[in-house]
Amino acid sequence: MSLRFDAIKGLSNGQNDVKASGQVKITAIFGENVFTLKTAREYLSDEGYKSLLASIRGGKKIDRTVANQIAAGIRQWADGKGVTHYTHWFQPLTGTTAEKHDSFFTLKGDGTAIEEFDGAALIQQEPDASSFPSGGIRATFEARGYTAWDPSSPAFIMEIGAGKTLCIPTIFVSYTGETLDYKAPLLKSLEALNKSAVEVANYFDKNVQKITATLGWEQEYFVIDEALANARPDLLLSGRTVFGHAPAKGQQLEDHYFGSIPERIYAFMRDFENESYKLGIPLRTRHNEVAPAQFECAPIFEEVSVAVDHNLLLMDVMDRVARRHKLRVLLHEKPFAGINGSGKHNNWSMATDTGVNLLAPGKTPKTNFMFLTFFVNTIKAVHDYADIMRASIASAGNDHRLGANEAPPAIISVFIGQYLNKVLQDIKERVGDKFDEQDEAILKLDLHRSIPELLLDNTDRNRTSPFAFTGNKFEFRAVGSTANCANAMTILNCVMAETLKQFKKEVDSLIEKGEKKEIAIMHVIREYIVSAEKVLFEGDGYSEEWQKEAERRGLPNVKTTPLALDALVTEKAKHLFESNNVLSHVELEARHEIELEKYIKKVQIEARIMGELCTSHILPAAINYQNVLLENIRGLKEIGLEESAFSNQLLIVKKIAEHIEKVSSLVTKMIEARKVCNVMENTRDKAIGYCTEVKEKYFDDIRYHVDKLELLVDDKFWMLPKYRELLFLR
Ligand code: ADP
Ligand code: MG
Repeated sequence: MSLRFDAIKGLSNGQNDVKASGQVKITAIFGENVFTLKTAREYLSDEGYKSLLASIRGGKKIDRTVANQIAAGIRQWADGKGVTHYTHWFQPLTGTTAEKHDSFFTLKGDGTAIEEFDGAALIQQEPDASSFPSGGIRATFEARGYTAWDPSSPAFIMEIGAGKTLCIPTIFVSYTGETLDYKAPLLKSLEALNKSAVEVANYFDKNVQKITATLGWEQEYFVIDEALANARPDLLLSGRTVFGHAPAKGQQLEDHYFGSIPERIYAFMRDFENESYKLGIPLRTRHNEVAPAQFECAPIFEEVSVAVDHNLLLMDVMDRVARRHKLRVLLHEKPFAGINGSGKHNNWSMATDTGVNLLAPGKTPKTNFMFLTFFVNTIKAVHDYADIMRASIASAGNDHRLGANEAPPAIISVFIGQYLNKVLQDIKERVGDKFDEQDEAILKLDLHRSIPELLLDNTDRNRTSPFAFTGNKFEFRAVGSTANCANAMTILNCVMAETLKQFKKEVDSLIEKGEKKEIAIMHVIREYIVSAEKVLFEGDGYSEEWQKEAERRGLPNVKTTPLALDALVTEKAKHLFESNNVLSHVELEARHEIELEKYIKKVQIEARIMGELCTSHILPAAINYQNVLLENIRGLKEIGLEESAFSNQLLIVKKIAEHIEKVSSLVTKMIEARKVCNVMENTRDKAIGYCTEVKEKYFDDIRYHVDKLELLVDDKFWMLPKYRELLFLR
């Protein structure tokens, strides 16, 4: 029997059902595996604790002797929890996380076995990094890289089965100092944002000393049965199904959305949630999504870099817990054609150390003025750097989703709702080119009246916008479900930092010319509204008209990853990242190269799987069934029946023959096209080649014929689990 039928049989016997572990109180386990500041207080000396705190709050360096104390404290804590190994945990550009486990165990000179973890081991480690992508940086400069402790993220204990590992969050850099991960630039972008945003916030409130960005992600994912997944080599190797006819019932009834969560999935959710709580991930919501077998979870928002760590940890935990439940989590942006894909909305805002959310309308005219300033600056930033924002979410997986009538289009626009649109229009009209004191008073009061505090309930939702204001934050919706949010967040922080910096320059220069501060600010705000308003769009982002309208407005609409990535290496981008000290030219070039390489590999793998499946699964099934039909026809002929008695069989035989011919000739041509691309020297050319000459030319075509065969061939010959089974059986 085939894996497919074994899997189906196993499912009906319930042999894959796993009970969830008992219910526990969240507050009783929350953060128990995290070296929080509270734990630090308990395990560290005053000196160690103060130094750690200063490093977290103000980025102060921790010196060696204190690092030794901190390491000892962390080890003591971990030891008490039965931890034997530690690892530097980091975020290489492959997109997943990496770790290299070392044991605390060591031998002294005289052979005595001891357990040890000193400051040096905490601060720096040298993973064998040669296999992590470096976009040529290491080849040109220095062959090795090292990981360095990032005290701003708390250490945590990862439990895998009975094993427990102490994980030290780190950044990953080459010996020549270039960053090789997603985390380091993120931290730098936060510094840049802090600097620019504090200066602008100080126009309104001198007490603001620190501003951080906040992130609340919403993770979408699919869950399917493990045995069924195992019978789909495409899912196993590429994370998506390259073939599969749409089931008779898909998501058209929308009966899955917010329906009750299936029991088997519920057990899995409770288990991964509990593991997440132990790691301090503040998960709050869970529900079904639109597509069958699709779900979502979201936490309470946190400071960006911690939120990024938590999302990566969650993806890891979900994957492991799913396996325990004999399930598979699919994080791919588009595991199934014809039904919705998965995204990861990034809810983003900025918060001051005085406790103000800068994107929440305020209580007083002054705080509302501050809100308006940051609000308009965000719109301006997205307008000016839309191409770089687009690049920040580009990936092979996301290409399937963006603009696929379910997800935001590849055109970056901003939705702010009717209400705020009107406010901005008012400012534009009433302030005019000239602005005087009289206007100021009216405007400030009006502004206050026109921006109600509870805008939250007033912002109409527009699900089709890639970047939407939702009452007290912006929601970057175009991020892919597998993505490390750090990439999108780094770029958003960075374009915001740059825009605020320019804003301050312009306001200051008006003030120097003798303008009153408020008037100067209002003037620049108006200027920004005028220059950025073409990025504002309230209509249906999925519509055909928007594509045309966006083109008229001159908004970029880059549909594929290889071209979208170009925006990373323009002069504008280089200046942006370098002047804000986020990425150097070399680092940008390297990242560009790495993202292109990732794209090439993904498409290459999919192309190979398609070829393999066709020769080893699809064609044999089609031929087997054809033989059955031929046998039948021969038999009917033998007993002397007229052709009309088997004309239908003949027709099917012919149809199958046509599709077989198409599939094999297209696969042969696709392999040829791949060979042409493989010898291309230039990475960008190769990526474009894979995109247009391999993927666009052949993928859909091959799939069309394979999916037709799926409908024609006797079900019992078909070895790949069908969509209805993958999506509806559990
Ligand atoms: P939905 O978008 O589904 O209506 P919510 O608006 O409640 O749900 O929140 C979605 C996400 O936005 C949650 O993860 C939440 O923590 C996050 N969020 C709320 N406020 C902020 C903020 N100021 N900064 C960043 N994220 C936020
Ligand atoms: Mg949302």
